[in-house]
Amino acid sequence: MNETSGSPTTFLALSQAERRSAVTALGGRSFHADVIERELFQNGRLAYDAMSGLSKALRAALARELPLLAGEEVERSEARDGTVKLLLAFEGNARVETVFMPGLGAKKDLGATLCVSTQVGCAVGCPFCASGLFGLQRNLAAHEIVEQYVRGRALGPLRRSVVMGIGEPLLNYTAVDAALVCVRSDFGLGARKITVSTVGFPERLRRIAPLRPGFQLAISLHSPDDDERGRLVPAMAGIPVEEVLAAGDFWFEQTGREVTYEYVLLAGTNDDEPHARRLAERLARRRATVNLIPYNPVATTGERRPSAESAATFQRILSEAGVVATVRWSRGVETDAACGQLRIAAGAAR
Ligand code: SAH
Ligand code: SF4
Repeated sequence: MNETSGSPTTFLALSQAERRSAVTALGGRSFHADVIERELFQNGRLAYDAMSGLSKALRAALARELPLLAGEEVERSEARDGTVKLLLAFEGNARVETVFMPGLGAKKDLGATLCVSTQVGCAVGCPFCASGLFGLQRNLAAHEIVEQYVRGRALGPLRRSVVMGIGEPLLNYTAVDAALVCVRSDFGLGARKITVSTVGFPERLRRIAPLRPGFQLAISLHSPDDDERGRLVPAMAGIPVEEVLAAGDFWFEQTGREVTYEYVLLAGTNDDEPHARRLAERLARRRATVNLIPYNPVATTGERRPSAESAATFQRILSEAGVVATVRWSRGVETDAACGQLRIAAGAAR
């Protein structure tokens, strides 16, 4: 995994081979690296001192010479439904959010869904999104993405993961891909348990699809109309919606996995019945499903949350046209758990 330049090396940032030689150089045996990996990934222990199977002397040497993790937990907020949101700081005061959402009801004991960030800020500039308000600060390194899983695992077992936090994954794909390789092997999350959400740059999707990457794809569409999508997803201005959908079709052909389209419902902007009918026309003949996400108000954007009735009407129009659609009311809203918001509330977005 690549390191962030200038920072001290951490255990997590090293490759498996490097971890073994680092542990041996500090007086341990190479299997001690496996012990640490197990304690970290499977048991959620975030400090050498909390790990069993290591001598006191080795723990002391490791703590002195080889920090486990690069980041720091700056803030934690917990919602009534058990959703925990972490604000993490990495090198250069790079702050990102990670959200841990335990299963509810019958799914309570199955483990949590973890939402991770891929970049510090975002260059795409969607006007309704808190993550992009201040542009892009920097990419996260692969180990900084993996660290979010480590910290999530420390809160409880993980069942699923969504790469839907701060940042645009396809604009930092090398690190995202490297991180997900570790996540699949170290945390045992299979390809169907990981969803990557992107605004869907067509030529990037076409390049990646033949490699059959190990995750589900979600494309943030937000409008059936070229001009409006260009306003809502500015980095995609000039790229026709049909080209994005064709890249989604290509993804399905190549990977055999259906694409999910995300559509943020913005009251009075893209949530009326004509929008629903035009979207249905675009998707009716395709193998795809739609997640309708009622907008989570972000103080600075001026957009409004739709009513439950208009969300239901939008969904009904899609369903009647044969398009499978689900309304996703997001969780943890009362603790600023919508994307990018904790970072802003903590005055940390710059
Ligand atoms: N950059 C990627 C992934 C991160 S955003 C993308 O845009 O897909 C994940 C999802 O959250 C996107 O569908 C995005 O449109 C949505 N989103 C962002 N801000 C939101 C808000 N305030 N309310 C509801 N959904 C939001
Ligand atoms: Fe970036 Fe996604 Fe937010 Fe748009 S919605 S600004 S692409 S994080």
